[in-house]
Amino acid sequence: MTPDFLDTPIEYLKGVGPTRAGLLNKELNIRTFGDLLTTFPFRYVDRSKFIRIADISEESTYIQIKARLVNVQVVGGQRQDRLIATVRDDSGEMELVWFQGTKWVLDMLTARQEYLIFGKPVMFNGKWNIPHPELEIPSDQPLPLSEALRPIYPSTEKLKSKGLDYKGIGKIVKTLLLNDKFSVHENLTETIIDDLRLIGRQEAFLNIHFPRNPELLRKAQTRLKFEELFFIQLRLVKQHAGRNRKMDGHRFLKVGHFVNQFYHHHLTFELTKAQKRVIKEIRADLGSGKQMNRLLQGDVGSGKTLVALMTMLIALDNQYQSCLMAPTEILAKQHFQTISQMLTGLDVHVKLLTGSTKIKERRIIQEGLLNGTIHLLIGTHALIEENVKFQRLGLVVIDEQHRFGVAQRAKLWEKNLITPHILVMTATPIPRTLAMTLYGDLDTSVIDELPPGRKSIITKHLYEPQHDKVYGFIREKIQEGRQIYIVYPLIKESETLDLKNLTDGFKAILEKFPSPRYAVSMVHGKQKQKEKDAEMKRFVNGETQIMVATTVIEVGVDVPNASVMVIENAERFGLSQLHQLRGRVGRGGDQSYCILMSRYELSAEARTRLSTMVRTTDGFEIAETDLQLRGPGDLQGTQQSGVLDLRIADIVKDEKILKYARNVASAIIFVDPHLSLEKNAILAQHLALMDRKQQNWGLIS
Ligand code: ADP
Ligand code: MG
Repeated sequence: MTPDFLDTPIEYLKGVGPTRAGLLNKELNIRTFGDLLTTFPFRYVDRSKFIRIADISEESTYIQIKARLVNVQVVGGQRQDRLIATVRDDSGEMELVWFQGTKWVLDMLTARQEYLIFGKPVMFNGKWNIPHPELEIPSDQPLPLSEALRPIYPSTEKLKSKGLDYKGIGKIVKTLLLNDKFSVHENLTETIIDDLRLIGRQEAFLNIHFPRNPELLRKAQTRLKFEELFFIQLRLVKQHAGRNRKMDGHRFLKVGHFVNQFYHHHLTFELTKAQKRVIKEIRADLGSGKQMNRLLQGDVGSGKTLVALMTMLIALDNQYQSCLMAPTEILAKQHFQTISQMLTGLDVHVKLLTGSTKIKERRIIQEGLLNGTIHLLIGTHALIEENVKFQRLGLVVIDEQHRFGVAQRAKLWEKNLITPHILVMTATPIPRTLAMTLYGDLDTSVIDELPPGRKSIITKHLYEPQHDKVYGFIREKIQEGRQIYIVYPLIKESETLDLKNLTDGFKAILEKFPSPRYAVSMVHGKQKQKEKDAEMKRFVNGETQIMVATTVIEVGVDVPNASVMVIENAERFGLSQLHQLRGRVGRGGDQSYCILMSRYELSAEARTRLSTMVRTTDGFEIAETDLQLRGPGDLQGTQQSGVLDLRIADIVKDEKILKYARNVASAIIFVDPHLSLEKNAILAQHLALMDRKQQNWGLIS
């Protein structure tokens, strides 16, 4: 047992030192021996297998070929010479290229020799070549098994420049594994290991890095994936059990004046079946005496806000205050306006608090919250500031939750002795598997039905040369009195480029849609809040017909009269973003349209994204496709929230293991909710260790 050994700073590993340590830290987040140990190869190349030169394709990342050297040539370059070697197998020819150490390589090469060539092919001038390959002379002896599978580690340009390419990293991993003090202790019980026929932890780590054979590699992967998912599930299930038993909640039993007044006299439409069902689910939670912790999923426009409002009125009927937290100022204001409007004539006191609320107003709000005269507070993260205190906060509604960090949410929890009920609304449908992993302790409600009379949005994918056609269509729609969004992508790497992209687009639009006949608004992230609001307002009020924007309008903005969404460079957007954007239209009774503009040349992935959008408007289907395409790490928000730091498991591909892990965790917690039995001590210890390393976990939901 040497737990401290794996906590040793990486700098002290033989062959690393301070410079490389700094880079490993910065580039791959590797700080300790343990971090290096859990930096897994992302693939393995079977060195006993070769690919034919003619079969090299876009899918070939690292390959091995067996070919004979037929020509060597040094080509003078501007800065340095290049060495080009041509090799041939019975399917064709290709070039190997060296930019550095050309002289040394030249000396090493033997004419007509057959080589084992290993490397990553790149396309240059329409031909495949391999830069800086590894060469070996094939031997008649078969490879020792332990060297047949070559691990490929992640690396970066900066690391490569310090000798830490995939191979260099493999080398230091080997140094670590061969160290006398290296040992990994088991963290699963014997029962689990035996029941699931898993291999031991140390054996798994050795084989994940340097597999002795494919079978052991598979076993190592299964073991480590299980372990990873199991402990996440164990924590969630334990927390959930704990919450059900211990976490008392305010009991809202009454449905009284406010709900009845609103429901019978203010609501101008019938609730959908789905809305009714969800409200029932929420009411059951609120009356249970336990704290509600519920995720409300529903597509844009499905009527979540209305459900939230009714929930807040239930709180009010029970003499409790509520707050609603939105991710942006625009959204908070919009919620404030719609909700105030819906409540006109009812004696409900609603206030808005955002970053730009004036000090004087702020004081008034603080006072009203403390003496209970304010019933409902709507705002941005200004709500969680220190000096915002409620008299009786009973319910917190969080809109578009994944934009809030975990720590921010935790602050809200702290506002009261008894934790308020929590309702989290999201329009990003979270696939079931992911929801289970991320929010295992959250109950979910789904609004799977749109209010009646909504026409499905017609989506078309067009190419850039077809812009004139689009402009013609826009003119037609404006003629009919409709409004139009035109959205440009945000390119994170270059904000200046973004703005240029947008302003160029804006200019072009102004040319095509000149005043005074047309009026165009523009909103982007670089504007002052005031300017943004003013532009937004002009569009909302119908003073402008076209809104040119970056993705600031992505969430929640509600202009029912807008019925055309044009998305420029649609290939640059992720699926969930496209879906969110499309949700901005189709909110009124008119037929709405979404036009996706893109270049002709598209990657296979971009093409799938666009065709998915054209094919379906089902948010869950889109989310599933998104997950398949991008992998969970990229799902909007999961990275920011830091919840999903999976090293080896894949939520999509390893769904089976995830379910196993969940079942095993549930069974254990059912018998031993506090993990206090001697036989489970090893699990409790590991959980505690994880908690120490990752403090944020406690309050995620
Ligand atoms: P979400 O928050 O899920 O995007 P909203 O609650 O903003 O959806 O509802 C979108 C629009 O549909 C709003 O204008 C709302 O008043 C309206 N709406 C909500 N529920 C219904 C319903 N049952 N019937 C008709 N219209 C509804
Ligand atoms: Mg909404």
